[in-house]
Amino acid sequence: MRNLLKKRTLLECYLFLVVFMIFACSSNEGSEAEDDESINDEVVTELHAAFSEFNSVATDIYLSNNGTTVTIETTGLPDHETVYWGEGNDLYIDEPGVATTPSIMSSNNNAVTITVDATPDLDGSTVSTQLNTIGIAVSGASIFNDQEGNGALDQAAASLDWTGAHIGPGVYHYHLEPVAFSNDDDNLVGILLDGVFIYGRRDYPSNEYPTDLDASGGHFGPTPHNPDGEYHYHIINEVYSTTGSYVVFEGPYQGY
Ligand SMILES: [Zn+2]
Ligand SMILES: [Zn+2]
Repeated sequence: MRNLLKKRTLLECYLFLVVFMIFACSSNEGSEAEDDESINDEVVTELHAAFSEFNSVATDIYLSNNGTTVTIETTGLPDHETVYWGEGNDLYIDEPGVATTPSIMSSNNNAVTITVDATPDLDGSTVSTQLNTIGIAVSGASIFNDQEGNGALDQAAASLDWTGAHIGPGVYHYHLEPVAFSNDDDNLVGILLDGVFIYGRRDYPSNEYPTDLDASGGHFGPTPHNPDGEYHYHIINEVYSTTGSYVVFEGPYQGY
């Protein structure tokens, strides 16, 4: 009887210790989250496999803020041809149908640095996209949304090159499906400011157009870089206005 009691007491002590440790850990996490003003600050120890697809000449990609974020530095100069390189550049091509803007890429500063969550905060809240860079494409250049200045993209559609991009006053950027690296397929397109990757119009591994996308073009499922599945966006398979092509991403972000 006495022995049994002793055993019970030991067991209770052990349980108390376990509960205490769990409590100590979670309260510690709570205070870190408060410091960062972020609910989700999961630490990762290596870059997501999808980053291996990015143009390594243009980009420098590394973990930052103790592994809670990823920083992407890019020259903004893509690894494909366009009229916007300007005559004389090796990657310049003549595009007579494009109403070019006055700027050319090789004389503009296209450099951009973004820092995104290493693990997107998928807590159900959404954030609208804004003008300027909303993400970085695998080519190294910027992704913009469906707006040009303060109006709809239609106004500027004539200046878009063969791969859905142009230069406004600032950096070279894609508005429409960047067919130079994603043309009606499941290829990786890039990463958006909320830390969520965006893929082409078709799903992996079915190669069909996904039918379960949310308003942002996102869903949970396998990707070529994560067979176990994760939340990711697709270019939505709906032709935009009179462009004959597809907006890369309109928003809202789901991962902020
Ligand atoms: Zn634009
Ligand atoms: Zn998918």
